[in-house]
Amino acid sequence: METYSKQEIIDLYNLPLMELIYRAAQVHREHHDPSKIQVSTLISIKTGGCPEDCGYCPQAARYHTSIEKNDLLPYETVIGLARKAKEKGSSRVCMGAAWRNVKEGDDFEKVLKMVRGLSELDMEVCCTLGMITESQAVRLAEAGLHYYNHNLDTSEDYYKEVISTRGYDDRLKTLDNVRKGSLKVCSGGIIGMGESIEDRAGMLLSLSKLHPQPESVPINALVAVEGTPMEEQEIVPVWDVVRMIATTRIVMPKTTVRLSAGRTEMSAEAQALCFMAGASSIFAGEKLLTTPNPGEDKDAEMFSILGLTPTEKEKDDTGKFKIRRSRVEAEEQEKWSRPGHRIEKNVQAAEKAKEIRKVQRQN
Ligand code: SF4
Repeated sequence: METYSKQEIIDLYNLPLMELIYRAAQVHREHHDPSKIQVSTLISIKTGGCPEDCGYCPQAARYHTSIEKNDLLPYETVIGLARKAKEKGSSRVCMGAAWRNVKEGDDFEKVLKMVRGLSELDMEVCCTLGMITESQAVRLAEAGLHYYNHNLDTSEDYYKEVISTRGYDDRLKTLDNVRKGSLKVCSGGIIGMGESIEDRAGMLLSLSKLHPQPESVPINALVAVEGTPMEEQEIVPVWDVVRMIATTRIVMPKTTVRLSAGRTEMSAEAQALCFMAGASSIFAGEKLLTTPNPGEDKDAEMFSILGLTPTEKEKDDTGKFKIRRSRVEAEEQEKWSRPGHRIEKNVQAAEKAKEIRKVQRQN
């Protein structure tokens, strides 16, 4: 497979837009059926209260945002939500929990039970639970998990401007553990956080250098939420989203490129350009964890206009994991890092949140 240097990725990104879309559309047609769209539904199984300081995230406990927190949802609720998603055309369900990393114990056992239950619904199952060890990846795979999502978010350089509670290497280590657990990798990022084009290219370079490349790459446009350090970031121009999708498609020809957060700011015409440029998947449902998303009815109407048909569940290839577990169980647990450098914006948002809470307690 052709590989691209950072400069080549930047050059692709900067091509005249019509040329870029045309090239990406050609690559898309070589490797994918352009009339198909993969539809995933994201279920937030544990919302808010996260100890991390990701500058874009309303679920970080240290910021004051208006999200409704909830502990791990009951098994029946998750299965019920997934059933509804399947009825509305989703072939994959992704369970998201606002954790730094997966801890062994009751909650992880409950998640494993949810994975088993969801695989029985004949859907693809994905989780995004924070950092995981190899043995946890194997256990998730044994339970029937197909994909694990863990976004690189941005370039290695710009990561230090976004998060101070873990390093880029931790992200890469988790992706490595996911692979060792024989799970498929879903990893992408967010644009519109103040990063440069070089950073966007840097992220695509890191993803494209993974061997094998991720099966799924979500491209998110920042949804700036009040109370987070990025609350004042401007809405990402739609042209940047199209460019990022097209460049991702060319650099990682076989991956499923998911047009993810930020679709509420895009017209159907703008989304059509993204599909033309190689986006082959979306998240369905009215919410993406905590931020708004177009509802299924709106998407169904758009698919009908554009002649796109949701894909069926991929052929099941779980069941090959059984032999690995005893070996992995004996291994030592990962030691995740906590770089703890100061990100001015994050510190200010956390201090503002403390003030608000103080005033609320006094009233
Ligand atoms: S993005 Fe994930 S890890 Fe970061 S604060 Fe939000 S929930 Fe926590």
